[in-house]
Amino acid sequence: MSTPVIQLRELVRTYKTGEVEVKAVRGVTLDIHRGEFVAIMGSSGSGKSTLMNTIGCLDKPTSGTFLLDGVAVANLDRKQLAKLRNKKLGFVFQSFNLLARTSAQENVELPLFYSHPLVTLRDRHERSVQALEKVGLGERRGHHSSQLSGGQQQRVAIARALVSRPEVLLADEPTGNLDTRTSIEIMGLFQELNESGITIVMVTHELDIAAYCKRMVVMRDGQVISDTVNEKRRVARDEIAVLNQAEEKAKLA
Ligand code: ADP
Ligand code: MG
Repeated sequence: MSTPVIQLRELVRTYKTGEVEVKAVRGVTLDIHRGEFVAIMGSSGSGKSTLMNTIGCLDKPTSGTFLLDGVAVANLDRKQLAKLRNKKLGFVFQSFNLLARTSAQENVELPLFYSHPLVTLRDRHERSVQALEKVGLGERRGHHSSQLSGGQQQRVAIARALVSRPEVLLADEPTGNLDTRTSIEIMGLFQELNESGITIVMVTHELDIAAYCKRMVVMRDGQVISDTVNEKRRVARDEIAVLNQAEEKAKLA
């Protein structure tokens, strides 16, 4: 088998605030391979975000090792780290973090300008249009964030993450601010992206949302307490088709 894209070994992260020590992550060993779609689950305070911040190279572990695509992140200097991160990872958050009064396209293009300064203006345009088309917003690329619904804003944020062509998409509670139907649609988009080859690691505390993933990792008190294949995977595309049918019927009645 090929090298896991993410390898965690006995990962520990302790926060110290004054006299108090919080053991947020206490010894996590985990491999994630290319093409996986993993849900990291667990109640609030179980260490999910801390673990994701480590995987996202935003935070360094207190002890243990983290290899990103076989590279020991701890040994890199800031510049090397930024480069690896920009090349390998895309981020999606609960709050969409879009710039207001800025078009969808500019929101997608801007980070690419900073992370890949050598990409030409023309390629930047082309790549951002492609990314917006991929998330179903090709027609709305000129709209400002405030003119888009929550679900559309999250799609722009996903396009922004995709535009650098990452291998792994990291999402922390991506449906946390969305209603049920919109959440299913976003999970459908993730399933599509995953089918096209991108690896996805998603934090959620909702079982309903984790149900769309291929694998479920459950954390409690900073440790992994279960790690299972999701045999009863929900398929968002089918569920949306059923919802649409029901709506059509209601309209005709
Ligand atoms: P989750 O995302 O599962 O809710 P977190 O990783 O955010 O969990 O937090 C795990 C534990 O670490 C919690 O007890 C939390 O209060 C603590 N914690 C998280 N971030 C910090 C920080 N920057 N400083 C101190 N304690 C923190
Ligand atoms: Mg969290």
